[in-house]
Amino acid sequence: MNLLIDNIGELVTNVAGTGEGGPLGIRRRAALLVEDGQVAWLGPARYAPAADRRIDAGGGAVLPGFVDSHAHLVFAGDRAAEFNARMAGERYTGGGIRTTVAATRAAGDNTLRGTVGRLRAEALRQGTTTIEIKSGYGLTVADEARSLRIAAEFTTETTFLGAHVVPAEYADRPDDYVGLVCGPMLRAALPYAKWIDVFCERGAFDADHARAILTVGQAAGLGVRVHANQLGPGPGVRLGVELGAASVDHCTHLDDDDIEALASTVTTWVSEPESSSTVATLLPGAEFSTRSPYPDARRLLDAGVTVALATDCNPGSSYTSSMPFCVALAVREMRMTPAEAVWAATAGGARALRRDDIGVLRPGARADLTILDAPSYLHLAYRPGVPLISQVLHNGVPACQP
Ligand SMILES: [Zn+2]
Repeated sequence: MNLLIDNIGELVTNVAGTGEGGPLGIRRRAALLVEDGQVAWLGPARYAPAADRRIDAGGGAVLPGFVDSHAHLVFAGDRAAEFNARMAGERYTGGGIRTTVAATRAAGDNTLRGTVGRLRAEALRQGTTTIEIKSGYGLTVADEARSLRIAAEFTTETTFLGAHVVPAEYADRPDDYVGLVCGPMLRAALPYAKWIDVFCERGAFDADHARAILTVGQAAGLGVRVHANQLGPGPGVRLGVELGAASVDHCTHLDDDDIEALASTVTTWVSEPESSSTVATLLPGAEFSTRSPYPDARRLLDAGVTVALATDCNPGSSYTSSMPFCVALAVREMRMTPAEAVWAATAGGARALRRDDIGVLRPGARADLTILDAPSYLHLAYRPGVPLISQVLHNGVPACQP
């Protein structure tokens, strides 16, 4: 059983050097054949092969599904009141994480599962076909393992974030908490986790603690990601580069050395995604929701750094699951072009997860894609806040339709 998507006005492939649009590899008046969950063929619509089923894209744009490489979906509770206080002038410090930790520990498995399922479905309706999900609101051995077990029911991209903050009961003895994370908590997390992450920030974990945790996780076989340089300058980005992290995330406060370190990891601009570069993942939903200055994406791009966009979906500092919203923010507030932002939200996210089977549409890639109710990807930034995602295919299967 195969499926032809026909009458595509603009097909964004992210195969550089084919078609128009540089890295976006745009083809016009195209068609795409899906078979066994993969892209089997793509080319001019007039040469489209026969198929068992057909979807008419109506002349709209088709893009690779969004790859949201940074999300915190396993939590309970609501922090609307904290958001309200911030919008009335209070500053964001990250301290509210402990509020969510208390609510998450008190919640039953099905409550947590229900929240992850609801947010995963919400993201899918907005075109996100791959999502990374972190733990980090349990902060006990049992609650971190449980968070990852539930996350693994929804994605293969699971991240152990036991080092999110030092929980209140360890406030006076952070070294003991780091020992717990590196030992029993990591062992309990391993069966369900693919990645390890640390919130390396003043008030969370310093460079020594972060290095200790990431190194032991890496030795146990987990890939490295870092929450770095969000609230102020710090050692997180350079530590991530030093450890060969797939991604350093936030990157709001960078100095020249940080940018140079990131740029030095990029071997060639059009290198294949399995390359070992460290991606700078920008999370503009966090700056939006904390009313903070945005990261300087232009400076990173001009230095040749690989940039990804993700939602940072979490109940405190960025409660959005919408990649189109992040694309619009990146264009309006971070001086990215629409092409750069769309690439970063698809191929960039794939590189941040060291994946070459997603974020791209070419024969053999996963048939994860979105059909827009608009003639061009440009409309994602040009028409902010408008539900332009008309259909989503996940593993070649229509995932949701209006
Ligand atoms: Zn985060």
